[in-house]
Amino acid sequence: MSLLKNFGGGGQKCELCHSTIYGEETVIAGQKQAVYVNFNPLEAQAIEQKSGYRCKSCGREYCKDCLEKKAPGNAYGGKSCPRCGGLFEIMHG
Ligand SMILES: [Zn+2]
Ligand SMILES: [Zn+2]
Repeated sequence: MSLLKNFGGGGQKCELCHSTIYGEETVIAGQKQAVYVNFNPLEAQAIEQKSGYRCKSCGREYCKDCLEKKAPGNAYGGKSCPRCGGLFEIMHG
């Protein structure tokens, strides 16, 4: 998404949709810019959906958007990895 290209990111890609995903700190910085500089809450929302999550078991990385739509839920109220059923941790950076 072109509106996200102005801020950084480690170049990680979502395993499912192949869009660029961002670590927690980058997402927060991007959201602040979207809301306080660009006055664009929809942009902030779009950035949020590209937060990266990494499977603790197989190491695959996904965006929040794909996890909400495609990943199975688990007993802890979170989402499980679509490939191996592992748990996720939020990505940093
Ligand atoms: Zn995705
Ligand atoms: Zn996995």
